[in-house]
Amino acid sequence: MAHQDDIFKKVVAHAKEYGFIFPSSEIYDGLAAVYDYGQLGVELKNNIKQYWWRAMVQMHENIVGLDSAIFMHPRIWKASGHVDAFNDPLIDNKDSKKRYRADVLIEDHIAKIEEKIEKEVEKGRKRFGEAFDEAQFRATNGRVLEHQQKINDIRDRFAALMNANDLEGLKQMILDLEIVCPVSGTRNWTDVRQFNLMFATKMGSVIDDSDTLYLRPETAQGIFVNFLNVQKTGRMKVPFGIAQIGKAFRNEIVARQFIFRMREFEQMEMQFFVRPGTELEWFRYWKEERLKWHLALGIPEECYRYHDHEKLAHYANAATDIEFRFPFGFKELEGIHSRTDFDLSRHSEFSGKKLQYFDSELNESYTPYVIETSIGVDRTFLAIFSHALKDETLEDGSTRTVLSLPARLAPYKAAVLPLVKKDGLPEKAREIIDVLKQDMMVQYDEKDAIGRRYRRQDAIGTPFCITVDSDTLSDNAVTVRHRDTMQQERVAIDQLPAYLKSKI
Ligand code: ATP
Repeated sequence: MAHQDDIFKKVVAHAKEYGFIFPSSEIYDGLAAVYDYGQLGVELKNNIKQYWWRAMVQMHENIVGLDSAIFMHPRIWKASGHVDAFNDPLIDNKDSKKRYRADVLIEDHIAKIEEKIEKEVEKGRKRFGEAFDEAQFRATNGRVLEHQQKINDIRDRFAALMNANDLEGLKQMILDLEIVCPVSGTRNWTDVRQFNLMFATKMGSVIDDSDTLYLRPETAQGIFVNFLNVQKTGRMKVPFGIAQIGKAFRNEIVARQFIFRMREFEQMEMQFFVRPGTELEWFRYWKEERLKWHLALGIPEECYRYHDHEKLAHYANAATDIEFRFPFGFKELEGIHSRTDFDLSRHSEFSGKKLQYFDSELNESYTPYVIETSIGVDRTFLAIFSHALKDETLEDGSTRTVLSLPARLAPYKAAVLPLVKKDGLPEKAREIIDVLKQDMMVQYDEKDAIGRRYRRQDAIGTPFCITVDSDTLSDNAVTVRHRDTMQQERVAIDQLPAYLKSKI
């Protein structure tokens, strides 16, 4: 655990030191769970959004985009169920005065039992050596099965309590599991209460008779209320999707995992409208499709796993999360939900406008069913960034910190470095930059020895360093150094743009 904490601290420190992420309002001592993206962070974040948009909108003929307002009519949040049910169960420890989400305490407890299982598996691996059959061990080892049974019992009891909204039962469960506050170490808990996560504000100049508005807690509702607008003006035929990237706001109870859980964050959501009865087919399609999107970044498959939901929201008939192995363990990165016709039906009911689709092939009207894919930009950023950050020991015994970002997401694609600050090399380097910057983000750096400049670029994830030396003036070629392998090769200047583009 200590090791994991160290890695996570390093991620946070590195993000700050190199201008990726700053705490919000830092000179005023910060604002909890709110962050600003710095000069490099904004580039990486924009590239992530572009990568998603391209995969969802540009590559799918039947998916179009939308940019709806953050403020929406307050009845929307009545219809969606957020006013009445967008709650988290909170509990306080009376000794430390720390506040927790009851469900997270239970999840963390389960994670500890899961760790015990992993320890048993490791022991087994050591004991049996070559002959170790992991799958068989997991399926038959007495201790593993005992732990697994405990996890299943906890999950079942938890799901039943949550479905019944039984807050007293939830507290009793925390007591029965002997869960202690990580800060005070005691079991001196308050009762569990429900806490609504929406931020409210007022619209209009006269406070008294102005309407209470909510900052949207998800972007999805903007898509649902524009369903007919987009379908009609875009002449969209079911199945089709609407995609949107935008800010969302949640008054999270506990927020101490950097950009994993923020109070202001950004989502990339797509609602896919299908014929009723075909939704589970499409659910499976998007489940696979979305994992492929993650894997296309080159991050190994073992960093991802599906987590199918046992406890479904009342409107869903299938749901899964794609979880990522963050420095603090496997946690949700993306949700894929089969939402039935719940949202469109509710908005029909609450608005009095019929939100249906006439299917000319079937010659009938119906309320389409919806598959939603919903992913946080910031969580994706954290996943990619934390996976990319590495300390390496080189052959000569020296060390370097390298941020092995996928080239297409890196803030700068290349740095152009004159070997020395004289003899016309800086001018030549500038000439190269003027050409490359038409197509990509490039950086110029002439300060310090070349080795130090390489290290600086390694640390911000620049995949290519282009060195201009005295030979360049005569042979019109440069040395291209690859970030991950540190291999160098000579490339003709007029070939450079094509060369780099093919690698990115
Ligand atoms: P969690 O259980 O972690 O609170 P959730 O199930 O409430 O998440 P969804 O409502 O499914 O999350 O939101 C979709 C996606 O939005 C999540 O998979 C996550 O990537 C992102 N997201 C949700 N809440 C936050 C937050 N507070 N900060 C950053 N990203 C978030």
